[in-house]
Amino acid sequence: MSDYDVIVIGGGPGGYIAAERLGQAGKKVLLAEKESLGGTCLNVGCIPTKSLLNTAKLYAHARDGEPYGVSAGDVRVDWARAQAWKAEVVSTLVAGVGATEKKAGVEVVKAAATLIGPGAVEVAGRRRSADHVVIATGSVPAMPPIPGAKGNPAVVDSTGLLAIDAIPKRLVVIGGGVIGVEFASLFAALGAQVDVIEMLPEILPFADADIAAKLRRGATGVNFHLQCQVQSVEGNSVVYADAKGRQQRAEADVVLMAVGRRPLVEGWGAAEAGLEHTPKGVAVDDSMRTNLPNVWAVGDVTGRSLLAHAAYRMGEIAAAHIVDPVGAPRQGQLLRANTIPWAVYSIPEAAGVGLTEAQAKDKGLDIVKASIPLAMSGRFVAENGVKGAGVVKLIADRASRAVLGVHVLGPYAPEMIWGAAAILESELTVEDLRQLVFPHPTVSEGIREAAWAIPERASDNQPGANRQAPEL
Ligand SMILES: Cc1cc2nc3c(=O)[nH]c(=O)nc-3n(C[C@H](O)[C@H](O)[C@H](O)COP(=O)(O)OP(=O)(O)OC[C@H]3O[C@@H](n4cnc5c(N)ncnc54)[C@H](O)[C@@H]3O)c2cc1C
Repeated sequence: MSDYDVIVIGGGPGGYIAAERLGQAGKKVLLAEKESLGGTCLNVGCIPTKSLLNTAKLYAHARDGEPYGVSAGDVRVDWARAQAWKAEVVSTLVAGVGATEKKAGVEVVKAAATLIGPGAVEVAGRRRSADHVVIATGSVPAMPPIPGAKGNPAVVDSTGLLAIDAIPKRLVVIGGGVIGVEFASLFAALGAQVDVIEMLPEILPFADADIAAKLRRGATGVNFHLQCQVQSVEGNSVVYADAKGRQQRAEADVVLMAVGRRPLVEGWGAAEAGLEHTPKGVAVDDSMRTNLPNVWAVGDVTGRSLLAHAAYRMGEIAAAHIVDPVGAPRQGQLLRANTIPWAVYSIPEAAGVGLTEAQAKDKGLDIVKASIPLAMSGRFVAENGVKGAGVVKLIADRASRAVLGVHVLGPYAPEMIWGAAAILESELTVEDLRQLVFPHPTVSEGIREAAWAIPERASDNQPGANRQAPEL
């Protein structure tokens, strides 16, 4: 008999949810975490960034409230207090994860674990056996070999920037992905001069290009330099070639290296145990099975999606298959990557799910689309005026009318996108979506109105045909 039903390696969102669900199902579970429960997300990722972004948003609201009838006088940021609040939020949530694991009967060990092979794991120097092993070791920041970056005290990764003890006057961000854009708008809102240097023609390459471009134009105070290749960092100068190949320099007090993250596939026995993997992640099927029997992998380490909510879902899928190997496949407990939403908590916020226009075209799909400015939403205008940055773009299949993609730029976008994911999961059509009732006045009504703005079938002659989207 094994020591445990399941050993989980890594206590981030993927690992702690898998352990919790397994414990709740009556399994004897050991969860090994070498640093802090909650992983990247709770300790140095999703949560501390949102805490500091909230401080920046509160500050900007107070400072810019005059058109809305609020004058707050001399508005100042107490950075030490903001950092203390961030630490309080993180420790509350980390303690919450610990309490939840305890309630689920999970044994948590603060130690590094190494996979020896199927059913065998070394935890804190002791060999333990288990019927199943779940790998959830996450990811780490990618550090490209840019001359002058390594060992330069001005260059930090996201973890370093989160811990900074003063707001930098000049911040240069290398990389226009989610992490780069969130930090750029955070510090721009707090008054820093911010430059983002991005190699590609547009920021947020996974997003619909229209949404990404509008977010870029709406991100007040951030200077974006597109199609620019960083060549070196010389002290506090970032040297880069601009779109025309001319050499330029951007001066910084702090340089954030935000060129992405890489799955943590080394240091815990993957190669030695014969686990199939590449630098892009541990190979898994849609039920999170690896090539080794009863060894599962979930979250960032798989490279399938580097998002916390995707890690949660992967953890739940692995747990479902471990608990009920016959029922789980029948219930369709599989990773459906096309319905995982993404969100950017910048100023303005954005979120999306499903195919972008470019992805639909690459797949050779014949689509219909509509874009609705959020200035049509009563709530949006009340809170932002008509000039605020906001748009909803909806993409559907021309023949079946199935909704293929929903992309939102504007306030509350990350809060509303789950509804769009449910629309895609349920394979609703444009006509189904038009029949759903949304609360008024909400910004989310933009999604419904985008459905009404989708061109009718040429053959259709039904109420609403060619109707202009009304004012909300
Ligand atoms: C700045 C930043 C902001 C982010 N914001 C968001 C956001 O807003 N929304 C979102 O969805 N995602 C966000 N992410 C991404 C999110 O944090 C990750 O997708 C998520 O944490 C992945 O969860 P995971 O469980 O796969 O891995 P992780 O959270 O990385 O956890 C892995 C854990 O495994 C532990 N571990 C590794 N090796 C071992 C070992 N051998 N033994 C024991 N323990 C081990 C590590 O210590 C770590 O705690 C952000 C990331 C960053 C860096």
